[in-house]
This record gives sequence, structure tokens and C-alpha cells, in this order.
Amino acid sequence: MLLKTTVLLTRRGFAPFCGTSSALQNAKQLSTYAEVARQRRSLQGRVAVLTASTEGIGFAMAQRMALDGAHVVISSRTQENVDSALDKLKSQGFSASGMVCHAGVKEDREKLIAKAVAEFGAFDILVSNVAVNPGGGGRLMKCTEDVWDKIFSVNVKSSFFLAKEALPYMGKRGKASIIFNSSVVGFIPNYAIEFMGAYALSKAALMALTKLMALELGPKGIRVNCIAPGLIETRFGAPISKDERAQQIIKGLCPLERTGTSEEMAGLASFLASDDSSYITGANIVAAGGLHSSL
Ligand code: NAP
Repeated sequence: MLLKTTVLLTRRGFAPFCGTSSALQNAKQLSTYAEVARQRRSLQGRVAVLTASTEGIGFAMAQRMALDGAHVVISSRTQENVDSALDKLKSQGFSASGMVCHAGVKEDREKLIAKAVAEFGAFDILVSNVAVNPGGGGRLMKCTEDVWDKIFSVNVKSSFFLAKEALPYMGKRGKASIIFNSSVVGFIPNYAIEFMGAYALSKAALMALTKLMALELGPKGIRVNCIAPGLIETRFGAPISKDERAQQIIKGLCPLERTGTSEEMAGLASFLASDDSSYITGANIVAAGGLHSSL
């Protein structure tokens, strides 16, 4: 049906405003074009499950994936935030559902996956977006065992087990894509040292996890990729972006001389979820305005 409509539109040369058409015909044609465009969206018919997605980068990713045609299942720790994010998505006409899920709690993760499976039978896209940085970070050598455990439990362990728990329900439709959200500081550049020692280490672990999972899941047709954002204007990023040293780093070391936006990360996530990136797996993609990054 889609093919037929596309051929028809191609033959007609996409000329909705040609002089001979009546206003009614134009309107009909335009609505057909809109339908074709809708059907051809990069994530049309896919289902995406996202953790930590009621605000900031996670919410922007959900919003963008929904715009690109996916049904999105969003989540975070508080019902109020889930409700408010769902209200926003639905008021924008997007297909969305959601529930409370503390990503560090196994039962919550299982319930989130069960919800997506109950609604759709399977899903195609999994975004593990969660991270913590207790106390706003600091040098690695000041990290206590409690803080270390919290950081690695939420940032690394929960991301791995979420993906492992989701696997039986992914890949059934041959388009599975797992996306982790790391950070440019995972490359442990010198400029991160004051702000986030153990957090940076956990984000480096996520990048290694991406490579290893991609190796094991590639033969099953499941892609695993990771985004490494620079400094993004969100609640989480605010303590750092307001810090004078961070501003100097942005001005001095970031070629684009600015912080990033959640929407800029969302476009990348949607690309990694789509067939446009079908030959990309095991990649850690830095989106940090050109900040130098290498291990
Ligand atoms: P944000 O704007 O503060 O949003 C955090 C979201 O996560 C909220 O929806 C929050 O909702 C939810 N959340 C927090 N802890 C959670 C938990 N344990 N389980 C489930 N949901 C949880 O943060 P963000 O800046 O978008 O950060 C998102 C990701 O981007 C993180 O992985 C972070 O490391 C990464 N990142 C951020 C930056 C930056 O500069 N902002 C840079 C690099 C990487 P509730 O409070 O309702 O749970």
C-alpha cells in the first residue's frame, strides 16, 4: 500500500499546488503526502523503553523517538514526574505510556519490561539513561566505599542487568537497538578530574560494556551503542555548568564554545535506534562540541 502510494506520488511529481488542481484535490493530496511522510518516519511502528526519561536528556530522547514514529514507554522514580512527562507527550499527540521505575531496583526494572511486553508483546529499542553522582562528584581519591557502591550499582550494574533482562523480548522483529548514555568524561580527560572521579570511571565502564555486549549480541542482530555527551544544560548538569572552572573549560577547550542541549543528544539517540545506523554497533559516540576525548 505504502509502495503504491509512493509510486503514485512520484509519478505526479509531488506538485500539490499546480494550477489545475482544485483546492479540494490539493487538500487531499497534502493529507496523502502527510500520511506517506508519517509512514516513512525512521522509527515508525517501533517500541522504545527508556529509563530515567521524565526530564532532561531522557525525556528529550523519548520525545524525539516518538516524533520519529515510535511508541515510547518512559519511566523514572516518581509517579508525579511520570504523570507530568506523559501529559506533555500525549498533549503533543505522541504515543506514550509509562510507569515508576527506579532503575537500580531489579523488581522495578522487571515491571517496566513486563509493561512494555504486556502492551506490545516485544520491543525494539532500549535506552539505559540513568546515572547518579552522589554529592556532586569530586576527585576519585576522595571517593568513599558507599559512594563507589552507589555509583557503580546504578550507573553500570543496573544498565547491564536492564539490558540482560530485556533481551528475551528484544530482537524478535529484527531491529533491536540498545543505547547506553555514558559521558565524555568516561574518556577521563584531565579537565574532569576535579569534578567527577568515580562517576567518570563508571562512565568509562559503560563504554567498555558497550563494546563487549556488541561483540556478544552482534551475531543475534542486536546492536549496542553508547552516547557520550559533553556538558548538557539539565538539572543534573547544572551544578557543573554553573561552576566557573567548567565555564572556562567550555570557553577554552570546546571548539563550539557552548554547552549542549538535550535535544542535540536526542537526535543522536534516535539515529542509533533507527535503520539509518544499521551497520553501527559497539560505538561510543561523543557529542561534546568537539571537546578532546581519548583514553
Ligand atoms: P536530569 O535532567 O537530572 O534527569 C534525570 C532523570 O532521571 C529524571 O527523569 C529523573 O526523574 C530520573 N532519575 C534519576 N535517578 C533515577 C533512578 N535511580 N532511576 C530512574 N530514574 C531516575 O539528568 P540528565 O542530565 O538528563 O542526565 C541523564 C543522563 O545523561 C545520565 O546518565 C547522565 O550521566 C548523562 N549525562 C549528562 C550530562 C549533563 O551534562 N547533563 C553529561 C553527560 C552525560 P526522577 O527524579 O523522577 O527519578
